[in-house]
Amino acid sequence: MSSSDTSVEHDAPSGPTRREFKARGSFVIRCPGCNLPKLNCLCPYRASAESVAQVWLITHSLEHMKPTNTGRLIRDVLSDTRVFTWSRTELDPELAALLQDARYAPFLIFPDDQPDYAERVVDIDAVHAAKASERIPVFVILDGTWRQARRMFRKSPYLDDLPILALRTERETRYRLRKPASKAHLCTAEVAIELLRQGGDEMAASVLDDYFDVFNESYAASRFYTRIDAPTPAMQRLLARRSGD
Ligand SMILES: [Zn+2]
Repeated sequence: MSSSDTSVEHDAPSGPTRREFKARGSFVIRCPGCNLPKLNCLCPYRASAESVAQVWLITHSLEHMKPTNTGRLIRDVLSDTRVFTWSRTELDPELAALLQDARYAPFLIFPDDQPDYAERVVDIDAVHAAKASERIPVFVILDGTWRQARRMFRKSPYLDDLPILALRTERETRYRLRKPASKAHLCTAEVAIELLRQGGDEMAASVLDDYFDVFNESYAASRFYTRIDAPTPAMQRLLARRSGD
């Protein structure tokens, strides 16, 4: 899930009128590699990491097109990440096969705030138990706005048998590109970072966290036509990691 159901896609800082937003956004020159405004391209900082747990994203079709989508950052860093497009009526055959594959222990990431599925809710110990039994834990994340994620959850019968893992964290969102309804609403990359960390993939979590920070800062700066000249600490760590590859 990413941010809130009030999120609106803009390519300009708040302040000016809608008309100005549109005019500005259309002049942005984007890098074909990372789809960010060229002024602060993300490509030099793209680092990879290994993790035991995997992330499978079920992405709402409207999210794929948005350059502010953070689900794609997960795939940039963790090469095992799989991305499926959500459909109410059809189950992707590859996802269907993966859900039946005994090598994996998939967990559907969703809040546990409704009583009607309480019996499916597990906690992070179940992830560690899966690892101990040599299965690969998988975080299945519904990638869309809050409202889209709720709809996907309710309208995807093929996910009805999965255990539900609710992320418990004190983390507040640092995502600056959409306005969250609450600081507790993490964007998709942040959800993955915290799950990886709690599941024992600390290195992968911190690389992804740095990459998310660089994405977030670079994109936000570009909206104000500001170039980040001196590498931030997160940039420096990612550059050092890349030079060590
Ligand atoms: Zn780029």
